[in-house]
Amino acid sequence: MARYTGPACKLCRREGKKLFLKGDRCYTSKCAFDRRSYAPGQHGQNRKKTSEYGLQLRAKQSARRYYGIAEGQFHKYFLMAARKAGVTGTNLLQICESRLDNVVYEAGFASSRAQARQLVNHAHFTVNGSKVDIPSYLLSAGDVVAVREKSKSTDEYKAIAEANAGRTVPMWMEKNEGAMEVKILRTPEREEIETPVEEHLIVEFYSK
Ligand code: SF4
Repeated sequence: MARYTGPACKLCRREGKKLFLKGDRCYTSKCAFDRRSYAPGQHGQNRKKTSEYGLQLRAKQSARRYYGIAEGQFHKYFLMAARKAGVTGTNLLQICESRLDNVVYEAGFASSRAQARQLVNHAHFTVNGSKVDIPSYLLSAGDVVAVREKSKSTDEYKAIAEANAGRTVPMWMEKNEGAMEVKILRTPEREEIETPVEEHLIVEFYSK
């Protein structure tokens, strides 16, 4: 399925929750969801009660949109999560969190996951010293993600670094601000994952 390229704010309104897709703007009074929290479209304000299937579908779509993952890939992650020991829903979120584009965003090297994906695509990062330009690259404990030397001095990157300087990083990673690198310490616990979804609904959706 092709990647959605329409207005990001419409997705939050469709899912009925803030998905924080536009970086700093999401925390200001310009947030479209804060101003119009009903679904987009002519009948957006008249939507009826959602069925059980509808709730499961919305949970799955919310998570996909939050991380910016295409349907096929997300389903693959679900199958990977189901094969692992432990709670499938938590495993699924942990896999999503370990994507390179998510780590770049969480580390404060980008203002949003969409920007992180673009920066990774443009080869601005290394993993353990080697260039990686695949946003879906999955990281493990011990991996080190760094901004490439030649990217650090570009005006584009200086502006991004300035805008995100001092952002708190999750406990499961350790950032070296000066070196512009971040090390993955461990897999995040469920309580450390802020994704606004009930993952058990996603498991129910795929388990039908
Ligand atoms: Fe969603 Fe951010 Fe747009 Fe608000 S500003 S509707 S949180 S993408």
